[in-house]
Amino acid sequence: MNIHEYQGKELLRRYGVAVLEGHIAWNADEAAAAAEKLPGPIYVVKSQIHAGGRGAGRFAEDPQGKGGVRLAKSVEEARAAAEAMIGKTLVTKQTGPAGKLVSRVYVEAGCDIARELYLGLLVDRETARVTIMASTEGGMEIEEVAEHHPEKILKVAIDPAAGFSPFQARKLAFGLGLEGGQVRSFEKFVASLTRAFHELDCAIVEINPLVVTKAGEIVALDAKVSFDDNALFRHKDLEALRDDSEMDPKELDAVKNDLNYVALDGEIGCMVNGAGLAMATMDIIKLYGSSPANFLDVGGTANAARVTEAFRIITSDVNVKAILVNIFGGIAKCDMIAAGIVEASKTLHLSVPLVVRLEGTNVELGKKILAESGLAIIPADNLADAARKVVAAVNEARVSGATGA
Ligand code: ADP
Ligand code: MG
Repeated sequence: MNIHEYQGKELLRRYGVAVLEGHIAWNADEAAAAAEKLPGPIYVVKSQIHAGGRGAGRFAEDPQGKGGVRLAKSVEEARAAAEAMIGKTLVTKQTGPAGKLVSRVYVEAGCDIARELYLGLLVDRETARVTIMASTEGGMEIEEVAEHHPEKILKVAIDPAAGFSPFQARKLAFGLGLEGGQVRSFEKFVASLTRAFHELDCAIVEINPLVVTKAGEIVALDAKVSFDDNALFRHKDLEALRDDSEMDPKELDAVKNDLNYVALDGEIGCMVNGAGLAMATMDIIKLYGSSPANFLDVGGTANAARVTEAFRIITSDVNVKAILVNIFGGIAKCDMIAAGIVEASKTLHLSVPLVVRLEGTNVELGKKILAESGLAIIPADNLADAARKVVAAVNEARVSGATGA
């Protein structure tokens, strides 16, 4: 789960991470009032959306205008900047061409920047450790630095048993060319950030840029905080930070129905039980020359109601040209699943080809229910057979669509 910059900063502040004073504003008047509370004379008005690249982004309504992060030299300028952003659509490298609607801005104290650095914490799957990454190339996208100048990314891994050690921060500090009091300041910053990362069960915390101010302070100027969804049950208070308007509506729907769904951009809708089987299903669709429209794990307790919800979400995606159901009946028996599929197809008036592969307990009974349903369900015997059939169905639909047949 992602949250906004201002929410991330608020959380990090509680852990002693150095951030500047700022206030959230939902309209121009509030932005002016927020600026009044700050010392001035420089204010920064920042669009709050779940995407980076805001500074370099442009508003769809004013493509020649300024970006989503603006400097203001007076309270009135801060008000005008907020006025120009709120209710407008900000398009950045990360939002895609559709952009994101700005509903609020963060009005923050202006910072006297001496250097812009990068600092990020994430779970490195290869080493299975939380890894701290730092770079002198602050303000740029770290993916680009990694591609063109991998040597400019410094990394240290946190030993899960020993935990974070201050010497690791010092090692990074020297690598970044920090000196004197900056090293101590950086050490404290990293220690606080690491504690926040662990205690909040984060997946990613990215501070880009981390700045050295002209006074030699180390401050987080941006904050991207993302939580591990599997640990959210331990943080009921964080759930309140979820911004539904930032989520893919299909994914939001899935979260509310307790389904494990990730929207993708292919054309074959997938309904599978078990994450591993779902991954394998997506792989084999690719192998047979098409691509999945989603990842969906309906879970071990797939029943008629869940199957119907899953179908509803899958078919709400206009890109879906065919559906592949791949279910292994264990606790949920194949006949129950089959009955659920039949019921869901009827209720939802399913109009795209549906390939079903069932295996496991009561599979024969399940296949019989599908065969006798009177619905045009294409049965498959194994994973390869299912993939071949669903890809063929999509291709056929495309050909008949193209010829107008
Ligand atoms: P994004 O990464 O989405 O573009 P940032 O928060 O990183 O947004 O802001 C973009 C740039 O704006 C920063 O690299 C920094 O140069 C400048 N900036 C951001 N916040 C402030 C601030 N409070 N004071 C001065 N400059 C700022
Ligand atoms: Mg940034």
